[in-house]
Amino acid sequence: MIPGSFAYHRPKSVAEAVAKLAELGEDARAIAGGHSLIPMMKLRLAAPDHLVDLKDVAGLKGVRTEGADIVIGAMTTQHELIGSELLASKLPILRETSLVIADPQVRYVGTLGGNVANGDPGNDMPAVMLALGATYQLTGKKGERRVAAREFYQGAYFTAMEAGEILTAIRIPVPPAGHGYAYEKLKRKIGDYATAAAAVILTMNAGKVASCAIGLTNVAETPLFAEAAGKLLVGSGLDAATVKKAVAAAEAITAPASDNRGPAAYRTKMAGVMLTRALARARARAA
Ligand SMILES: Cc1cc2nc3c(=O)[nH]c(=O)nc-3n(C[C@H](O)[C@H](O)[C@H](O)COP(=O)(O)OP(=O)(O)OC[C@H]3O[C@@H](n4cnc5c(N)ncnc54)[C@H](O)[C@@H]3O)c2cc1C
Repeated sequence: MIPGSFAYHRPKSVAEAVAKLAELGEDARAIAGGHSLIPMMKLRLAAPDHLVDLKDVAGLKGVRTEGADIVIGAMTTQHELIGSELLASKLPILRETSLVIADPQVRYVGTLGGNVANGDPGNDMPAVMLALGATYQLTGKKGERRVAAREFYQGAYFTAMEAGEILTAIRIPVPPAGHGYAYEKLKRKIGDYATAAAAVILTMNAGKVASCAIGLTNVAETPLFAEAAGKLLVGSGLDAATVKKAVAAAEAITAPASDNRGPAAYRTKMAGVMLTRALARARARAA
């Protein structure tokens, strides 16, 4: 399959990209790595008349510290996340998650911005961003605004991003040193999207959970922030009975589709299994 025809634009700055998207209106789409958008165009699930390529746009790449946050440019590839020493020391869950996305070929070109802006509930990074309490920086013709990842996802391929806006950066508050983390993903084979997956970020104090944030992948139309499940664990020593209650609370908010990855009830149970494993691994890693 080849995509339908389209005009190709290659702006050099955020201002130029935003102006081009505003000028072209609904017929235009931004393109980053193209590894979600081009397959959709080949399947005729998307048919933009214009592609505005963000590859040459200055300032959209790289990982840096800004105060208490790590700021990652939207065009930073998944491969670059894996290689970042700053992320390895401050946000190791991003490396762990990147390594279970697709395969090296996809990760060389697929970007963090494309992964979180896409709105596909099968993408792995959004649930991690929910657990981390990330914020997305968006720029459009009205200027810049910030939207919490926890408020960004509204339906499958439907987000808070307005037409003509581009995502420029992802801003993540650095979790305390010694935090526990884990991303557990069940997939049918290497390179597959998740049957179900769970992200956990937690902190411990004197053997008890001081904070716990949980995100779930591909078990609803959007990534899920399992807030009640995380709250249930606070104050516990992650004993089996409390973990069971928290897992039940997380399973209760899922609404997966039955598809070639399994029936809905199975995928819900697998979300619970992934969460149980992620909690155990995060606990073992927490100082
Ligand atoms: C074989 C294969 C397997 C894969 N497996 C996985 C997997 O297991 N897990 C996973 O998470 N992903 C998987 N992916 C998807 C891959 O990670 C994509 O690269 C990624 O989701 C999208 O990033 P991209 O840079 O390619 O975005 P693109 O495909 O270029 O764009 C995706 C969407 O986001 C929009 N967009 C992109 N960047 C911006 C921006 N800065 N501002 C505004 N809008 C923007 C585009 O308009 C488009 O709608 C797989 C892809 C392939 C081809």
